[in-house]
Formats: sequence, C-alpha cells, structure tokens
Amino acid sequence: RRKKIVQECEKLMGKPDQIRNIAIAAHVDHGKTTLSDNLLAGAGMISDETAGQQLAMDTEEDEQERGITIDAANVSMTHEYEGKNHLINLIDTPGHVDFGGDVTRAMRAVDGALVVVDAVEGAMPQTETVLRQALREGVKPALFINKVDRLISELQEGPQEMQERLLKVIRDVNDLIRGMTDDMDDVGDWTVSVEDGTVGFGSALYKWGVSMPSMQRTGLDFGDIIDLEQADKRQELHDQTPLSNVVLDMVCEHFPDPLDAQPRRIPRIWRGDDESDVAEQMRLVDDEGEVVLMVTDIGIDPHAGEIAAGRVFSGTIEKGQELYVSGTAGKNRVQSVGIYMGGEREEVEHVPAGNIAAVTGLRDAIAGSTVSSIEMTPFESIEHISEPVITKSVEAKNMDDLPKLIETLRQVSKEDPTIQITINEDTGEHLISGQGELHLEVITQRIERNQGIPVITGEPIVVFREQPTGACETVEGISPNRHNRFYITIEPLSEDLVETIQLGEASMDMPELERREALQEAGMDKDTSQNVEHIYGTNILIDDTKGIQHLNETMELVIEGLEEALDDGPLAAEPVQGCLIRLHDARLHEDAIHRGPAQVIPAVRNAVHRGLVAAHVKLLEPIQNVRIDVPNEHMGAASGEIQGRRGRVDDMYQEGDLMIVEGIAPVDEMIGFSSDIRSATEGRAQWNTENAGFQVMSDSLQGETIMEIRERKGMKTELPEGIDYF
Ligand code: GDP
Repeated sequence: RRKKIVQECEKLMGKPDQIRNIAIAAHVDHGKTTLSDNLLAGAGMISDETAGQQLAMDTEEDEQERGITIDAANVSMTHEYEGKNHLINLIDTPGHVDFGGDVTRAMRAVDGALVVVDAVEGAMPQTETVLRQALREGVKPALFINKVDRLISELQEGPQEMQERLLKVIRDVNDLIRGMTDDMDDVGDWTVSVEDGTVGFGSALYKWGVSMPSMQRTGLDFGDIIDLEQADKRQELHDQTPLSNVVLDMVCEHFPDPLDAQPRRIPRIWRGDDESDVAEQMRLVDDEGEVVLMVTDIGIDPHAGEIAAGRVFSGTIEKGQELYVSGTAGKNRVQSVGIYMGGEREEVEHVPAGNIAAVTGLRDAIAGSTVSSIEMTPFESIEHISEPVITKSVEAKNMDDLPKLIETLRQVSKEDPTIQITINEDTGEHLISGQGELHLEVITQRIERNQGIPVITGEPIVVFREQPTGACETVEGISPNRHNRFYITIEPLSEDLVETIQLGEASMDMPELERREALQEAGMDKDTSQNVEHIYGTNILIDDTKGIQHLNETMELVIEGLEEALDDGPLAAEPVQGCLIRLHDARLHEDAIHRGPAQVIPAVRNAVHRGLVAAHVKLLEPIQNVRIDVPNEHMGAASGEIQGRRGRVDDMYQEGDLMIVEGIAPVDEMIGFSSDIRSATEGRAQWNTENAGFQVMSDSLQGETIMEIRERKGMKTELPEGIDYF
C-alpha cells in the first residue's frame, strides 16, 4: 500500500496544478495534531483506529510526552478531488509560541495554511501569531473550527446558540485577517466564509466534519449535528462525510497550487533581480530551470545523517548535483533526494519545482539556507522575527563527552536557527540562547536523552539590550597610534524604521533603490537614505563624509569596529539595538600600514561607545504578554501572580464560564511562573505567554541590574565614565 502511495506521489510531483503545499497551524491544544492524524488516516498513511493516538507527526519522543508539537515535520499524501488525484504536501508547525521560528520557516514552504481554532476557546493569542506569520509570507488562510462536539456535550448548546458561536469565531478570525492584509496589495479578499467553503467545522477527536459544500451534498443541517451526541449518528456522519475528505476537499478547492502561488509569493520572499532568468523560472515553477531550494528544516536520520527539507521553487533536484549554499563558500553534492511519508523518508529519483524535497548531502545548509545551481540572491532571511530572550549554560558532566557535546550543539543550532550558541571564553561554558524557558528545557533534554550526554545546566538568564534614548553631539574616536580619528553622532532610530528592518523590508541584500524607498517610506529623509553604508541588527550606519582619501578601502574595518561595539554595548556588554550612527568625518593615515585593523577597529569601537554614552544609552529587558484563563474564584490569585512580578494587568473579562486575565511582565520575572501559578490556582489556570519585545528598565533598576550583569560576566563593577543620568 505504502509503495503504491509513493509511486502515486512521484507521478503527481510533475503536475503542479495537482499539488497543494499546506500547513496546519493553531494555538496549542486546539487539535492540530489530532486533525493531522485524521488526514493521514484518510489518505491511508496510518490506520483509522489509531488516528488521534498515534500522533504520527510528533516524531520526537519529547513531543509525544509533552503532548505538544515542537519540530515542524513533513508528510505527503494523495487525495482525489473532482475526479483528479492531488498531491498534498503537509508541513506540521509547532503549537507553542517558544518555537515561533519553526512556524515562520514552515510557512515559507507552503502556499495555504489551515488555521485550527477550538470552538469553545475561540481565537487565542497564538491563533493571531500564526495567522500573521502565514499572511506575512503570502500564504492563504482557511479555517477549521474544531471540538464542536464540546458545544453539544459540555455546553449543551442548541442549534441557534451553536451557530452564533461558530459565527463569532469566524468574525474574530476575519477581523484579524482584514487587519493584517489591509496594506497588502498583492492579495485580494482573504477573509473566510461558510458560504465560500473556506470554513469547515467538526470534531477531530470524533472524526467528523462538515463544510458548506458537504452539507449541501448530504442535506445535513445544524439540527442533525446536535444529534451527534449519539454514537451511532456520529458513525453515520463519519461514513457520509469523513473529516479527512471534507478538509482535503477544502484544501484542493481553495488553496492555490504552486503555479498560482509562486508568481505572487516570489516578490514577497525574494529580493533579487526580478528581471533575471531565475526570477522568471521561479515564478513559472519551471522544472527545467535552475535548481532553487529554500531549506526550511534540518533533521537527523540515524542512517543517512543530516537531511535538509525544503521547498523546490524552480528546477528539478536530483542526486549528484553540485549546489551552492547561501552564506557559505563552496558547493555541496546532493547524495539523495526523497519525500516524506509520515515520519519517514522515501527516496525518489528526483523532485521537481513546486514540491517539498528531503535532501541529503547538503552538509553546509542550515534551516533558512537558499540552495541553488547558480550563485544568486538568497531568499529573505526569516530568523529575525524571533530574537532570543533567555540564555542557559550547559556543560558536559563528563569531560570525555565534551567533543560530542560541541558537535551536538552545532547540530542543534543548524536545525533551529532561533537557537544561538556562544562559548564563554573565560569559563569554557557553552551558552544556549532561545525563545523562552521551555524552548531551552526541551533542547537540553534532547541533548541528554537523544545523545545520551549527561549535562549540567545553569539557571536561565535573561538577554538584555542597550539602546540610546537621546541624540548626542559629535564624539571622537582615536586609534592607539593617534593617527586615525573618527567623528560620529548617534541618535535613536524611530520605531517605524526599526520595524522595517525587523521585517526584512529594508536590508543590505536588496537592490539599493528598493532599500532607499523602503527606508523613506518608514520616515527616513532622502539624503540619509542615500548614504546608508551598513545595517547591523536594528542599527544603521550612515556615511555622511565626502571625498575622504582611503576611506573606501578602510570601510570594511570601520564596519568591523562598529559591529564589535554593537555586539557588546557600553553598559553591560549586551547587544545594542535601534540606533542610527552617522559618520561625519574621519582622519586616516596616508600609509595603509598605520591604518590596519589594530588601529581602526578600536578607534571606531571607542567612538561608538562614547557616542552611546553621550546619547544616554539605557538597558532594556525583554517582556512578555501573559494571558491566564481561570475560574472566577482564582482570578485574584492569577492577577496577583502578574502584578507581583513587576507586571501590569491590562484587562480582565469573562469568557464563557472563565475569567481571562491579560497583562504584561518582564521575562526575567516570569522564570518559574509555571509552578507558581499552578500552586496559586490549585492547577486550575491555563496560561499562555508571548514575547513582546524589549522595554527600557526603570531608572531605579538600571544601575543595580547593570552591576549584576557586569559581575556575572566578570567585568569591572563600575559604570562606564559619563553615565550619571540614572
Ligand atoms: P495540538 O496541540 O493543537 O496539536 O492539539 P492536539 O491534537 O494534541 O489536541 C489537544 C487535546 O484536545 C487532546 O487531548 C485531544 O484529544 C483533544 N481534542 C482534539 N480534537 C478534539 C475534538 O474535536 N474534540 C474534543 N473534545 N477534544 C479534542
């Protein structure tokens, strides 16, 4: 049977109009995994009985144990729609906010996103996040309202109430979609509706589902659905309209095929020359064009080693090809190509444009790489969307394991680029930085269990930022030999500009004209936008100098000095963000020997640090939005848990029989929240957090926190000269 499916898939791979690349995305626990299993069972990939128990897509052991999906996994299946067989490539996305980077990468590979929402809970914070991630990538949404059985059995709702509730979910989701697509002129009306058939609802657990087309076909109405409490009725409906058919019909009918999607998506995700041959080949899904693969995931196979999975946008990928990997120097040779069936990979001869491929041999590729047969502009980077906010040290318990640990950490950061690994040179400790406490916990457990390396981990530590709060007068940086001088000013970058950079709408990878336009649109004046020399993190270097001899050939070193200064800010050696640095003037020694790295780098670094101090640099800490759902009697305890953590409660309201408490709190204070809230509410609270960027710490905490960080890092425990404003 399996062999037959693989052969069928291979046949369909060459017919882009019969392909749909899709993701299922949801707030945690809304039923994404159960629904995915239904689809797999419907496609004959797993047995109907085990769907819902097998959790076929949660391949990592810890995912099944925790009952949440962590890694994005891939699976292909076939489905007959309107007399034609279709190939459906499904990419699973993690449901926890700590793994946001994986969601964004999964969205890059697909053209349609089925958003699953729990009928009782409605749209939740993570629903909004995944929708935003999908729309930003030009991925078309459809909606499946799940757990409708709960409306009947738990809430005892009648047809009228039930209909109202479903309509409210649809309205809420549409409000989100409308808000997010408002300024997107490359998409039409992407709101969903029952009438269009872009909304389905049902129960993944009891394996039934309906949509308008299926209701029309079978003559069912809401009254019939209420009767579903009786098991035999349920079986009847399942037999008439199995959930997998309803959902996969919806997928085939409403999601774009690659031919339809790629012309629209390519300009959104790739900033290369749109008049080049390769641009045309990607828009046309040309399987005879240059090979272009966007890697969305790196996995490990015990036999085959590293596997790079991703979307083929053009050409046909096959064994033996020598391909460029973005960001690296050489080429890699393709050792095998395959497709995913459940958690397993099946080797095939070749994978043409428009499909998801699993490739071995691409040893330099990381999640996010562009792999291609010609040297080309890489796809827009997607890592910037989630910056790490928390760090933990790891050490091998046994020194003998050290090489294995280093290798594993290297691997981990390849698989998940939202993880950053750094080595503390002084202590020899390895530091892992990630999206939240759970993110790091899962990673370290994986090292221990999968690799069998016992490790000692330190307490989680929050990652801070430094940012100027005002503008400064010109400051000077002088080289050790005193023959080179740099004159700069620093000012804070506006929020609009920071966001433009964060979203990748202005970057050094893109053609200059386009970058200028994007910066001007975000409020930068024309002259300044023409002098942009470098963008680093969310910082911009402007070269306002004119005709300075040797500056061009020295610029690389200037940039190196700038980056060093911004990596380790003057307050506590934390990364600097949101500044505009203007180079006004420079004196350079005639002789190249006297303006080498040892002179220029420290001169620029000093200038930038002095400028930052003069521009009232302050320490920022990461903050999180917190939402807690609790029974009324625990509401006080729940809001107390936020307020007691230097947090703020913004809203409290009733939803169904629960109270919702919404607020904001520093990440630092949220460490250990999960056990505290459990004991404060007798385990009755459901909660959710989402990173919400960085916030300037109050002046009263600045000095103390800076000292704590400096002490931890083994730096001098005194404030840098000139800091007397706290
Ligand atoms: P995910 O976190 O979005 O992948 O959610 P899961 O598929 O793991 O489901 C979370 C929980 O909800 C599990 O206990 C499921 O059995 C349950 N569940 C999923 N679908 C339904 C449904 O349609 N009705 C009911 N009552 N429970 C469901």
